[in-house]
Amino acid sequence: MRIKESVMRLEPYVPGEQPKAKDVVKLNTNENPYPPSPKCAEVLAGFDLDRRRRYPDPEFAALREEIARQNTTTPDRVFVGNGSDEVLALAARAFVEDDEKIGSLDPSYSLYKTLAAIRDVEWRGFGKDRTGKAASGKVSLFLWTNPNAPTGEFAEPKAIAAFARKFPGVVIVDEAYADFARANCMSLATAPRNRNVIVMRTFSKSYSLAGLRVGYCVGPADLIDALYKVKDSYNVDAVAQSVALAALKDRAYHRKTVAKVVKTRKAFAKALEKRGWDVIPSESNFVFAKPPAPATAADVFAMLKSKNIFVRYFPGPLTGDRLRITIGTDSQMKTLLDAL
Ligand code: PMP
Repeated sequence: MRIKESVMRLEPYVPGEQPKAKDVVKLNTNENPYPPSPKCAEVLAGFDLDRRRRYPDPEFAALREEIARQNTTTPDRVFVGNGSDEVLALAARAFVEDDEKIGSLDPSYSLYKTLAAIRDVEWRGFGKDRTGKAASGKVSLFLWTNPNAPTGEFAEPKAIAAFARKFPGVVIVDEAYADFARANCMSLATAPRNRNVIVMRTFSKSYSLAGLRVGYCVGPADLIDALYKVKDSYNVDAVAQSVALAALKDRAYHRKTVAKVVKTRKAFAKALEKRGWDVIPSESNFVFAKPPAPATAADVFAMLKSKNIFVRYFPGPLTGDRLRITIGTDSQMKTLLDAL
């Protein structure tokens, strides 16, 4: 029996806690507090189980076509994954040689570092004003989270476009939270001249379907083809394909849900500031905020947890003085504010 050296050394990614109790206020993994579109329930109710004797469409044609249509591009520029986490893993497989590196902002989504470790290549983090350095130094895949997590900060698409023009490798703009932001980079991905920008989205946040596991990306056809080559044959199951399609088509419901979250975010950020917290302006469905001294983020985290209110605390020099608080319903945010 032998486990690879790199796996022995691996520090696995630790997702936010999924508490079992029902009466918790769960603001720790950026899920949506509102239900998915009622059209999803309709699709599930009408689901023909007998047809499930067959494998699902390996190329998710219907979903791909709708994604292409909504983004005014063609299906050959669209890929769908078992959550956007899978798209990231496939990108690490397809776009990085063994002696190359994966780069990202720092701080950012901590899974990127783990993906590099699983792939047994080096990860390099860049402060938001130092991304230019990534162009020299064997970074062949750069993951630019926008809006960033856990900070919620938004980078102008112009800045990302300028970065991509100079960057020799593949840039994935991870737009998991872009539906909550004032703008996004999709037009960079769909532009005919684009050679290296992939824009990635998920159904886990703005579509309230984290449990379904569907994410997608849009980019140049040759890069999208490469992702198809390295994926599992049936990476997106039949239920996921149909339900995601129903969610995607119900644009009015999506718009309404996003607007509610953004409205609550603005009010909640103000309420925290009134209590002396330092809140980084967020374009996302969470805020990253620092409690007023002498309270520390760790103290407040523990205090909230003792009241069954779950938020996220990332220890460490770049993140340990703040808490990342997902935007829930107005009533959940009130419960949290009352606890403070
Ligand atoms: N990117 C970022 C920045 C995220 O925060 C998350 C959610 N943890 C993901 C990607 C993954 O989302 P999913 O796999 O649910 O699509």
